[in-house]
Amino acid sequence: MTNKIVSLSDVERAYGEPPVLACAGVTLSITQGELVAIVGPSGSGKSTLLNLIGTLDRPTAGTARIEGRDVQALSDRELSALRAHRIGFVFQQFHLADGVTAIDNVADGLLYLGVRRAERRARAAAALERVGLGHRMTHKPGQLSGGERQRVAIARAVVGEPPLLLADEPTGNLDSASGTTIVELLHELNRQGTTIVVITHDAELAARLPRQVAIRDGVVVSDSAPGSDSDARVGTEAA
Ligand code: ADP
Ligand code: MG
Repeated sequence: MTNKIVSLSDVERAYGEPPVLACAGVTLSITQGELVAIVGPSGSGKSTLLNLIGTLDRPTAGTARIEGRDVQALSDRELSALRAHRIGFVFQQFHLADGVTAIDNVADGLLYLGVRRAERRARAAAALERVGLGHRMTHKPGQLSGGERQRVAIARAVVGEPPLLLADEPTGNLDSASGTTIVELLHELNRQGTTIVVITHDAELAARLPRQVAIRDGVVVSDSAPGSDSDARVGTEAA
């Protein structure tokens, strides 16, 4: 048995003709409870990797497993269901609906789970409290600061209590003080049990997380804690 939540084995993702490998053979395991940064310069393949981990995309070679389930073997419908129940997403651009209150933006995160409206709103209120925005429930995105908007987006991502949260450049549009509060919030959610993967080009941000996986040109060039392959690691660590 294993508590690997993400397991990639020689995963590739090719684009175009002739094919260019945006992901060029990545083997990576992430264990339940981890808080991991995937760090690399622009164009290194971070978003491609996040899309593969998030099952928004399938590998063109290799195997991607989420909670032990082979992404290649699942239908589009099964993947949608897996995402809705098991994975939360946060993006640099927040992706909130304008003109919609914070509580309804968050409640919409439960639409695909078949939760009734009253319960959606009750759970959304709780999620906003959890991210420290209990006092901003009826504000619309235009009435919130960038950091507050990202906290609403995080509340929406976690309102269904997914075990895995994926964040692509979550502080990319924020000033450094707001960015710091977002990083602290991610730490807090992680302490409460959510496995989190943060994509960033910012080495300083990455250094504030417990594990850093560096990628360049679609391959992993270093991993501060190649965790779940620990059997292989024991013999080499002292060297
Ligand atoms: P990052 O997020 O690190 O900036 P990406 O994963 O977005 O990197 O892109 C990695 C490489 O793959 C880049 O060279 C990019 O141009 C290419 N790429 C990404 N998506 C596509 C696509 N849909 N079609 C063609 N090339 C793509
Ligand atoms: Mg990107």
